[in-house]
Amino acid sequence: MKLIDSHCHLDSESFHGDREAVIERAAAAGVERMLTIGSGDGPPDSVDVAVRLAERFPMLYASIGVHPHDAAKATPETYRRFAELASHPKVVAVGEIGLDYHYDHSPRDVQREVFAEQMRIASDARKPIVIHTREAWKDTVALIRQHWNPTYGGVIHCFSEGPAEAQEALDLGFHISFSGIVTFPKAIGIHDAARLAPPDRLLIETDAPFLAPVPYRGKRNEPAYVVETAKRVAELRGIAPDALAATTVANFERLFLAAQPV
Ligand SMILES: [Zn+2]
Ligand SMILES: [Zn+2]
Repeated sequence: MKLIDSHCHLDSESFHGDREAVIERAAAAGVERMLTIGSGDGPPDSVDVAVRLAERFPMLYASIGVHPHDAAKATPETYRRFAELASHPKVVAVGEIGLDYHYDHSPRDVQREVFAEQMRIASDARKPIVIHTREAWKDTVALIRQHWNPTYGGVIHCFSEGPAEAQEALDLGFHISFSGIVTFPKAIGIHDAARLAPPDRLLIETDAPFLAPVPYRGKRNEPAYVVETAKRVAELRGIAPDALAATTVANFERLFLAAQPV
C-alpha cells in the first residue's frame, strides 16, 4: 500500500533523537511523501524550519506559515521571508494558518489579521493553504470567503467538525484531511464527514507527533501510523484500504505537487 501523510511536524523536538529512523519507518510502511509543516515554535526562529528538513530528505515537502498560536509573533519581516521562501522548489503550501479559539495563545483579533495576511501571501505565490481551525469555524469560513481565491485550493487539516461543516468546506473548494481522531470510537460527527467527502477531496494525515491513531493512542505519533487512519477511513467508506490510500496519494499530488507558480 502506497500512502501519503499530508500533515506532520517532523521538526518537533520529540523527533530529535530518532528523526531519520522515523522517516525510514514511514518509507518502510509505504508512506512515499510527507508534508512537514513549517510552524515550529513560531517566528523568527521557525520561519524556514520545514524547508531545511525538506532539503535534507527527498520524500519530504514543506509548508511555510505562522500557526494561529504564534500569530502575535508575526512581523513584516516574517512575511517578507515567506514571500521569498514561497518560490523554493520544496515549498508546496502556506500553512498551517487559521484560528484557534480553544487555546487563545494569541489574541483573536491578531489571529484574524495574521490569517488574512498569510492568505494574501499564498494567493500571490499561487500556493494552496493548510487550515488549522479550532472552536472558530464561523470566523474561519468568513475570513476564507473574504480573502481567499479558491482557484489555488487548500485543505482543512485534522478535520474535527461534522458533516455540515464538511459540506461548507467542500463548497469553498477545500480538501478535507482526516487525522488519527477518526479512529476514536466517539468521533461520530467526524465519521459522518469521512463518509460524505467526495473521493477527489480526501486526504489523510498524522499531525505527528500529536494525536496518534488507535492502537497507538496516547503515544508519540509518527508518519508510519497513517496506515491506521487509512484503514479506518476506508472502513467508514466501505472500500478497500489500498483503494483509499491510492485516492489520497493522487489527491496529494494534484493539490500540492501539480500546482506550479507562474
Ligand atoms: Zn493544526
Ligand atoms: Zn499541525
